[in-house]
Amino acid sequence: MDAPVPFFTNNPPSKEELAGLLAPGSDEKDQLLFSRAYATKIKNLGPRLHLRFLLELSNVCSRDCLYCGIRRSNNEIERYSLQPEVALEALHWAKSRGYRNMALQAGERSDKTFTRAVTRLVEQLRREGGDDFRIVLSLGEQSAATYRDWKQAGADRYLLRIETSNPELYRKIHPPGSTYTLAARLRSLAAIREAGFQTGTGVMIGLPFQTLRDLADDLLFFKAWEVDMVGMGPYLEHHATPLFAYRHQLLPVKERYLLSLRMIALLRCLMPDINMVASTALQSVGLPGTEPLRDALMAGANVMMPNITPVNCQEAYLLYENKFTPGLDLEKYLFNFANQLNDWGEAIALEEPGDPPHFILRKTP
Ligand code: SAH
Repeated sequence: MDAPVPFFTNNPPSKEELAGLLAPGSDEKDQLLFSRAYATKIKNLGPRLHLRFLLELSNVCSRDCLYCGIRRSNNEIERYSLQPEVALEALHWAKSRGYRNMALQAGERSDKTFTRAVTRLVEQLRREGGDDFRIVLSLGEQSAATYRDWKQAGADRYLLRIETSNPELYRKIHPPGSTYTLAARLRSLAAIREAGFQTGTGVMIGLPFQTLRDLADDLLFFKAWEVDMVGMGPYLEHHATPLFAYRHQLLPVKERYLLSLRMIALLRCLMPDINMVASTALQSVGLPGTEPLRDALMAGANVMMPNITPVNCQEAYLLYENKFTPGLDLEKYLFNFANQLNDWGEAIALEEPGDPPHFILRKTP
């Protein structure tokens, strides 16, 4: 068999080369990229989709990020916090059906009442879930000690998106004069890895002021940091946020969508054995002629996070408008979805934790 032709001219590719590949071109150019990425996924990970059931624990948030619908200053929404029993019930539901993952996400809080409640909840989930069940956390920036506590309590993975690798752009999408800086975000990401977590990060795509060179840098960042998991999706506007004022300057949604697929595909070529999610934001883009989940899987994504938050709370956890939801009947959604996957030549990975091979190899001397 012929050796595969390297996709990039330079290895690793330069920022300029990546920015060029991100630029809109022809359908043929995109198809070539997607098919290379898909082949890379199949070779390294197989045609298997890993599910992480996402429970949005609380929309209470101490931060005021300019893009996010659950920011502190948004007083149009009711704030909720789920009881631990909801998470335990969800775990039992998932486990009994052969699923081995659950992700807990929330607005950001770092007060002791919250961090201790999370520690207790993780301990319980760990006990009930057993050794082959994975607990994923996405609870924002915390102290190194808190990350260690949560890891010690039994959490396996942590997701903290850097949002953008450009410090100037990071500053522009956060409150002026605030302590939220890219440097602080990176310190947290380093602490997460240091605590021993399978480490995930990601960015938003198509932010106001963002350039293709910024996105190329984001890809190089993931590679340089050797993260285990990545979640990337289009930036989608929310009317009750300050960034909404820039909606007229955004790329058309279709272009944000295609750019997201190109980002996924390029990263799959750069990092063949990481886990990469078909993000909820991508799934929320309902454009004619697109099938977001299929498109993401065919571009190299291998993970999806179905939302299992009680539906009345999901409505209050709108990070952006028109956020995708599996709806009221999750079982039915999953049934239809599993059939669809088969049509695409893929299948849901059951009875296995689905740890990213990248993490396993990173841990093996
Ligand atoms: N508070 C936690 C987790 C909740 S936010 C944290 O900050 O890590 C989870 C992710 O949603 C963010 O990292 C961001 O990338 C994404 N997000 C927020 N607002 C968004 C928007 N308007 N469009 C697209 N993604 C958004």
